[in-house]
Amino acid sequence: MTQPVVVIVGRPNVGKSALFNRLVRQRLSIVDDMPGLTRDRLYAPAEWQGRSFTMVDTGGLVSGTAGGIAGQVREQVQRAIAEADVILFVVDARAGIVPEDRAIADVVRRARAPVLVTANKVDGESLEPSAHEFYALGFGDPMPVSALHGRGTGDLLAAVVAMLPEAAADGADAGAEPTVPIAVALVGRPNVGKSSLVNAILGAPRVIVDASPGTTRDSVDEHFERGGRQYVLIDTAGLRRRARVDEPIEAYSAARARKAIERADVAVLVLDATDTIGDQDQRIGREIADAGRGVIIAVNKWDRVATSPEIDLRRQRSIRHALRFISYAPAVATSATEGWGIATLLEEVNRVAQAYQGRIGTGPLNRVVGDAVAKHEPPTDAVGRRLRIYYATQPQTRPPMIVLFVNEPRRMPADYRRYLENAIRGKFDLYGVPLRLALRRRGDSATA
Ligand code: GDP
Repeated sequence: MTQPVVVIVGRPNVGKSALFNRLVRQRLSIVDDMPGLTRDRLYAPAEWQGRSFTMVDTGGLVSGTAGGIAGQVREQVQRAIAEADVILFVVDARAGIVPEDRAIADVVRRARAPVLVTANKVDGESLEPSAHEFYALGFGDPMPVSALHGRGTGDLLAAVVAMLPEAAADGADAGAEPTVPIAVALVGRPNVGKSSLVNAILGAPRVIVDASPGTTRDSVDEHFERGGRQYVLIDTAGLRRRARVDEPIEAYSAARARKAIERADVAVLVLDATDTIGDQDQRIGREIADAGRGVIIAVNKWDRVATSPEIDLRRQRSIRHALRFISYAPAVATSATEGWGIATLLEEVNRVAQAYQGRIGTGPLNRVVGDAVAKHEPPTDAVGRRLRIYYATQPQTRPPMIVLFVNEPRRMPADYRRYLENAIRGKFDLYGVPLRLALRRRGDSATA
């Protein structure tokens, strides 16, 4: 089967080539295969989350000055979009909409392929609002990216993949993923027992040997195997080292925790059962939620607390209330010192990791969304216009992201979004993982 084609268009100097290079480099192997990748090479194979496609940069098509910029750009665009399955329409967020952008918009509007406006040069969060202006081009929400820094390019590729023709998806998904270790980060405020849990999981304290490349100099990952599965405990250096009581309590800093969470598939938020839940616990919990990682709550030092059904229920309620933003997290009672709950914790890690990497089939997903919509129609807005949901797909795993193609993203009220999220969560295995729901506008010209 021929591969789907993603074409990058845009006026000169918006950063098309930079974006092209950035996107095809998301997979290092591709660059290795193509040592000669340069500006004037217009085609490159690209891959994201198991989907392969061909990326076309039209930047090199602009040459000479005859005919004036506008005419040239128009011709360039017309030629390129004829073969496109998805069009990335690149604009310069710093410059705002200029007449040439409108000229290109007029041309790509007539293309059959869906158009994704990509607002480049959004190098920092403060620049993100400037991307919204391009909504006026009429292609839905622009995707803010920085080709220079790589900001937002993962989301962009996920959106591109979501728009690729369906047939290629099923074939590409067939191959099983190679077994990679499940990356686990143990995080929590000082003294909850993270180091003790690491030791309980790994067995007796031992010399740290395995330092993975690409991590900070003194961060150490511990690889181990249990029940035929590979795991890696992320950044245990700060944890295992602190056997001495006199070391500063902040040895395992918030910044460090954040980095560990970023690299994890599953984050274990360790709480101290003997203590009430405080701001610090909540803050770390929010970090995990914001990063979109799979999450498990470990209520440690369980050997130190009195238990009875009533006490347990009360304790559980207060934990659930304080951490209601990760209501999907399973909780495990542990005692690092007694070795209680360690096996259960690892079982939960397996379950969450599986859900975190899982892919929901497009057919079942659309049936569930369709049923939910049939049960409760989307509401109308203040002037009586209704949100219409055309199609749902999961372009991304780790964490799962679901894209809904709708007539008008702005007509989605927060509570209806939650309703859909719950409907999806109720039918598929999303154990311990957040569900990200993204809305994309599907142009009226697209097929029904
Ligand atoms: P960290 O700062 O989160 O890494 O916490 P540590 O692992 O250093 O533990 C802090 C203190 O709590 C140490 O004195 C541990 O021995 C103790 N501790 C850790 N886990 C448990 C547990 O499950 N039960 C009891 N009784 N004490 C624990």
